[in-house]
Amino acid sequence: MVLTFVLLLLFILQIVLFPKYYEYVKTREITGAASAIEESWGKGDAQEVTTKLAKSLKMYIEIASPSNPLISFQANEIGGSLDFIKLGISELKDSVVKSENGYIFKRYTDTVTGNSALLYGTYIGSKSHVDAYIFVYSNLQPLGTTTQILQSQFMMITLFVLFVSLVLAVFSSAHISKPIIRINNSAKKLPQGIFDATVGKDEYEEVQQLAQTLKEAAGEIAKTDNLRKELMANISHDLRTPLTMIKAYAEMIRDLSGENPEKRAKHLCVIIEETDRLSALVSDIMDLSKLESGNEALNINCIDFSAHLNGIISRFSILVERDGYDITVEAEQGIVICADITKLEQVVYNLVNNAVNYTGDDKKITVKLFRKGGFARFEVHDTGEGIDAENLPYIWERYYKVKSADGNHKRAKVGTGLGLSIVKNILEQHGFAYGAESEVGKGSVFWFEMPLESSAETKPAKPLARFSKKNNLPS
Ligand code: ADP
Repeated sequence: MVLTFVLLLLFILQIVLFPKYYEYVKTREITGAASAIEESWGKGDAQEVTTKLAKSLKMYIEIASPSNPLISFQANEIGGSLDFIKLGISELKDSVVKSENGYIFKRYTDTVTGNSALLYGTYIGSKSHVDAYIFVYSNLQPLGTTTQILQSQFMMITLFVLFVSLVLAVFSSAHISKPIIRINNSAKKLPQGIFDATVGKDEYEEVQQLAQTLKEAAGEIAKTDNLRKELMANISHDLRTPLTMIKAYAEMIRDLSGENPEKRAKHLCVIIEETDRLSALVSDIMDLSKLESGNEALNINCIDFSAHLNGIISRFSILVERDGYDITVEAEQGIVICADITKLEQVVYNLVNNAVNYTGDDKKITVKLFRKGGFARFEVHDTGEGIDAENLPYIWERYYKVKSADGNHKRAKVGTGLGLSIVKNILEQHGFAYGAESEVGKGSVFWFEMPLESSAETKPAKPLARFSKKNNLPS
């Protein structure tokens, strides 16, 4: 495009406007010479200036003084015919004086040869008393041949430039577009999870980066897709299992144990527990999808968390009494924090609930709350079998359950596999740091840290919004 424009511009300047430009330059030359002579007239060196100008510009210059023929002279360096003289110098003098602007400008063209010439005439003095007439005459060189040479050269250059640019364009477009077309074709296969574009070493860096980015995107899509499939499989598995149990036990009551109050009560117990498990799973899924959609705004309040903590832990007192769990709370007093209290209660509940579910045979759980720097640190310690380093980074993922030794997802004895994911979402929404440390065989510590609030007005604690019990299955 730019190249075409440049070529067109050159064509207009060099070929079309060339004769006009030449004439323009010549016109300036002769008018310039006349003004130089006019100037030198007063200084007395007009003759010298005239001779020099005529010589250097190859002109005929005539100065004719009507009052003093002695100072009239001609300088003829034109070396050709002086057509204007044929017109009669006296006639020309007349037209100079009569002219409105004080000068005449004529262009002659020989009808036989086609040659042209320019004549410029002016006078020094006034119309009534002319000191001298100045005539400057210059031939215009025939440009036909020059223009033809230029034209043919121009055509050759144009063809050469077009050929070279065509070759370059074909070469570079193949070099640039080929890998892009290849990547595009591969990108079309992305929805099927196939990305087979290779990154060539000789390709442009940008193309390499594009291919790399698509490769990474394909990897992420494949990962998400696998995760989604796994999630669906796990959820449907965990929804189906309690339903199967409920159906089986209900049939048992109908067919066998209906008349036996002791057995019936036992079977009904299983049905109730499985229903609990189902509703816990469903409400966890709902909580998580609500959190992940990010539509729910936090309802931040500042409270004395030390006092509030005991209230949350007391919810586990039934386990302490019934199953002999030893839950110790070591909380520094007067720790004030600001958070969405209902959600924070859910975090504490889920972490303590996990500790209860996974702690060791001593059934020991320690909950700690203390100041650390400008933060309030909450910790839950258990004495369970712990989580190995390989699994530890992934426990916060949705539905992640530490796999059994054979590598399969097994139905957890407890929990839905969503608890930690809910914890993670809530803490991240608050911007609180969190983590887990664990030593296989010794136990785990789950923690999070909240900024300490010193000035805020504290509000009385609100009761827990929800309490769902997750129990073991009866054997
Ligand atoms: P779940 O409802 O199955 O407990 P979570 O999201 O709460 O699901 O936890 C994910 C996984 O992390 C659990 O299945 C378990 O393998 C592991 N985990 C969580 N807390 C503990 C803990 N205190 N001790 C050992 N493993 C734990």
